[in-house]
Amino acid sequence: MSQEPTSQTLTRLRAFFAAGKTRDVEFRIDQLKKLKEGIRKYESDIIAALYSDFRKPPFESYATEIGILYTEIDHAVRHIRSWSRPRRVSTPIIHFLSRSRIYHDPYGVVLIISPWNYPFQLTIAPLIGAIAAGNCVLIKPSEFSPAISAVIAKMIAELFDPDYLAVFQGDAEATQQILAEKFDYIFYTGSTAIGRIIMTAAARHLTPVTLELGGKSPAIVDQDARLDYGVKRIAWGKFLNAGQTCIAPDYVLIHRKIKEAFVKEMIRTIHTFYGEDPMESPDYARIINERHFNRLLHLMEKGRILSGGTIRRKDLYITPTLMDQVSPDDPVMQEEIFGPILPLIEYDDIDEAIAFVNQRPRPLALYCFSGNKGIQDRVLRETSSGGGCINDTISHIGSQELPFGGIGESGMGGYHGKASFDTFTHQRGFLFRSNLLDMPLRYPPYHGRVFLLKVLFRIIG
Ligand code: NAD
Repeated sequence: MSQEPTSQTLTRLRAFFAAGKTRDVEFRIDQLKKLKEGIRKYESDIIAALYSDFRKPPFESYATEIGILYTEIDHAVRHIRSWSRPRRVSTPIIHFLSRSRIYHDPYGVVLIISPWNYPFQLTIAPLIGAIAAGNCVLIKPSEFSPAISAVIAKMIAELFDPDYLAVFQGDAEATQQILAEKFDYIFYTGSTAIGRIIMTAAARHLTPVTLELGGKSPAIVDQDARLDYGVKRIAWGKFLNAGQTCIAPDYVLIHRKIKEAFVKEMIRTIHTFYGEDPMESPDYARIINERHFNRLLHLMEKGRILSGGTIRRKDLYITPTLMDQVSPDDPVMQEEIFGPILPLIEYDDIDEAIAFVNQRPRPLALYCFSGNKGIQDRVLRETSSGGGCINDTISHIGSQELPFGGIGESGMGGYHGKASFDTFTHQRGFLFRSNLLDMPLRYPPYHGRVFLLKVLFRIIG
């Protein structure tokens, strides 16, 4: 399929934005409602495309790629009028007889670049924020999930004016060309390595960015954790999407006293979830492509495989795999795993677990399993991460009230709910000066007025 050169698409998007239609909040609400109806209409196409791209189970597709978007749209539609209303704020006395307001201006033309692992949700969730805030958007979905990228392109073209929202399909090289153009905002989701490239390209135009990146998200399981629930919640968060989740628990820091019980419970849970032969389970996804499959095999080469480790190359299948005896220098601890491999690292004291986390780049998520409030508080206070859960995994991503994003190498900026609106909005402060009187004090010549100024600031300060 030949596509229009990006420069032409951008000219059209800019003209649409300049015409001012997106400034109308009712227009934005209509577009969001249209988007929701469109997703409903395309539900079965979306689920089929995700299955075709990497055998994503329909239940997971609905829960993590579709249902979550309906609540996000409803939340935006409900609140968009109040979010976008200019906000009156107080004015310092020095600006006597003036008023101050904060306006919520859209940035203009926004670029959204999304990855393949939750390819629908991670494209549409930021799009909801961009629409709610009144922007025009160019969407660049991932080339590694071509079936769903095609559905996204078809759906957007069918629902929206192409001068308002457009989709560009292309690989890394094509994306580099897009990035040579000037956007008013770039919202990128993907790996930390490519995040650096995006930020470098954005810097050339001084374009602000949100970077939703990855990393190794730890789960700390302390000795008084409720193991039956905890293991289930870790197994679900890890093996969902076959581990290809940015906030999957990457590895478990396990208190030595409960390691054996944890392993037993985890093996039992994996069997309960996926049956005696997980290869036959309809509820388990495949690895996205051969490059990632080979990368994951390499990660299993060092350390001991406690359970799983079985593979089938022809459909890029890897069993849910549990490992121990891994050292921090082993390949599995050197990069984000992004697959169904769960290494266990033992500790004797919570100080050790906290130090282990803090010696590494700040993760996208951090999970702490403990029934002890003191331990929960210490982990929260003494570590840093994009977000996380106490006694659960993944769930924080599903709340419109919690901003979702990384910190340090796991990203910058956040979204979901109001945070999405704020991300795609420029807060424009304006002061309205009265014409009733004009204070001569500030105008030159200043001669002899420093004393007066000092007295004034004393009084108002
Ligand atoms: P990726 O960085 O390889 O690709 C993401 C997007 O960037 C794709 O659209 C791709 O076409 C584009 N891209 C790739 N190379 C490029 C280049 N050289 N120049 C310009 N654009 C380029 O990421 P991925 O493999 O699709 O996704 C996996 C990564 O994304 C993991 O690290 C994961 O943790 C992270 N991730 C983060 C989040 C989050 O919300 N923070 C969500 C999902 C995935």
